[in-house]
Amino acid sequence: MSEARPMNGIEVARDIMERAAERAAQFEARTGAKPCLATVLVGDDPASVTYVRMKRNRCAKYGIESRHVPMPETITTEELVSAITELSNDPSVHGILLQHPVPHHIDERAAFDAIAATKDVDGVTSQSFAAMAFGRDGFASCTPAGIMRLLDAYDVDPRGKHAVVIGRSAILGKPMSMLLLARDATVTVCHSKTADLPSLVRTADIVVAAVGKPEFVRGEWLKPGAVVVDAGYNEGNVGDVAFGEARTRAGLLTPVPGGVGPTTIAVLLEQTVTAAFRQQQISA
Ligand code: NAP
Repeated sequence: MSEARPMNGIEVARDIMERAAERAAQFEARTGAKPCLATVLVGDDPASVTYVRMKRNRCAKYGIESRHVPMPETITTEELVSAITELSNDPSVHGILLQHPVPHHIDERAAFDAIAATKDVDGVTSQSFAAMAFGRDGFASCTPAGIMRLLDAYDVDPRGKHAVVIGRSAILGKPMSMLLLARDATVTVCHSKTADLPSLVRTADIVVAAVGKPEFVRGEWLKPGAVVVDAGYNEGNVGDVAFGEARTRAGLLTPVPGGVGPTTIAVLLEQTVTAAFRQQQISA
């Protein structure tokens, strides 16, 4: 039995970030300032702290300024919305990232929607989602956009293929299905109430797992030769796909870590630089 070819997210991400760094340097040369990303973190959830630190480290490495905005766990929705609105109105900030998830007592949708669409470099606002769904200009949700870049880098053309997306969250499953649909895939979106998931997955040419459950997708569910993208990240560097099993069935497979994660951050950086150019009304 042949082994699946790994899809190397680190390499794909490096290409995207190196290009973003070149454009960031051009931006600085022309305006005297670096593109600036504000990172808003509510509370001190260890995973979220790590994700924000990784994003800020990448910014520093590739010539993007990051301004960290920590908020206490006890903050109210109104206070958070007001702080984000201030960043939306601050001309020295080009992009805003609100780290997901926020504590349960906060209306996350209201907080996301306080981000100006022009600064929504993580692609989380209702306006960005609508723009993406209608195929209009706007910032895409970073993880699904990163997955599309991975597919492109490995010459996977979704056109006419059956794509099964497992998960329907606003930041991952739903925008993922929109982006695949926009590229002419036939898309089935699955969730916790889906009946007989393994049978659906067996018909998929492309599987995107975005469930948040370790090794949830089993190798025997996969059609031999399928392209399998594991967006999941669970404790202990474990994805949502049983990697060892999938390796003997899939044609292409993303590892965890080193698959989807790096491309998510790369798209965030790229969109921050694009936002900076657009706000200064200059082209790269
Ligand atoms: P989420 O908001 O918890 O959504 C999980 C989705 O999985 C929901 O739509 C849920 O269905 C569905 N689901 C749960 N149990 C299921 C089952 N038994 N069968 C089918 N579907 C089921 O999670 P998320 O934010 O989308 O994240 C998903 C995963 O991606 C997590 O592991 C997360 O860590 C990872 N992630 C990675 C990145 C990255 O940059 N690599 C970014 C974001 C998230 P219902 O809607 O019916 O509840």
